[in-house]
Amino acid sequence: MSDPIRVLVNGARGKMGKQTCIAVDAANDLLLVAQLNRGDDVATALEKHKIDVAVDFTVPNVVFDHTKTYIDANVHPVIGTTGLDEKQIKELQVMAREKKLGGIIAPNFSIGAILMMHFAKIANRFLSHAEIIEMHHEKKLDAPSGTALKTVSHMQTAQLACEHNQFASRGLIKNNIPIHSVRLPGYVAHQQVILSGEKELLTLRHDSIDRSCFMPGVVLACRQVQQLDELVFGLENLLDL
Ligand code: NAP
Repeated sequence: MSDPIRVLVNGARGKMGKQTCIAVDAANDLLLVAQLNRGDDVATALEKHKIDVAVDFTVPNVVFDHTKTYIDANVHPVIGTTGLDEKQIKELQVMAREKKLGGIIAPNFSIGAILMMHFAKIANRFLSHAEIIEMHHEKKLDAPSGTALKTVSHMQTAQLACEHNQFASRGLIKNNIPIHSVRLPGYVAHQQVILSGEKELLTLRHDSIDRSCFMPGVVLACRQVQQLDELVFGLENLLDL
């Protein structure tokens, strides 16, 4: 049997970090060797523990610097923290490409959510107008969600169905698709993509009801990143869709 993959979890005390530690611990081929929290020095830990894969579930304002540190140390990044913008993602991808280092940035590790995005992309070829409503818990730091932004990046509508988009309540419009963000206690992570055609509507809805739903995707990513030679954006890159 080959050596287990040595995994570091950054943000280990957080809600996603805790779940990740449990999932990594339970996987025979993964070894949880380091758990980092706010205040820990990332570069020192990577070197000290001989890390293969770093999983990051921290906060938006530090994830860019963390990811640069992983890449600099030739550690494969598995980035779940949301909030990276397009420019930052491109910069990180260039850094990883120069080193031929595999990694993943995934705004959503749930398989069901990836399927929702995939179906939305297919449906959008036939149903020309769309809006998104995403609902998350009240502690989420970014809005709209990374998943909503990723969904619209796969979609494009020629024009908005409604002409009255000057009101804030029409949402944030990306690729001619309004995104509406709801933040309330009780939600985990939920999204509806509503598409409309000629006198018909199609609603695709995905609900993450417990954070453990992200773990099969996180474990899959930990297992596969070493075989990649670039930093891919989205779990769909690891699934045979
Ligand atoms: P959380 O419970 O607030 O956890 C974040 C953790 O990061 C906290 O323990 C926090 O520590 C820690 N932290 C803050 N600054 C840090 C630093 N500089 N270095 C190391 N750790 C630091 O949030 P969460 O719900 O787990 O979510 C974490 C991130 O994952 C968010 O960006 C969220 O949007 C994203 N997320 C992604 C997915 C996905 O599938 N990709 C799914 C769910 C959530 P303190 O407690 O000391 O502040």
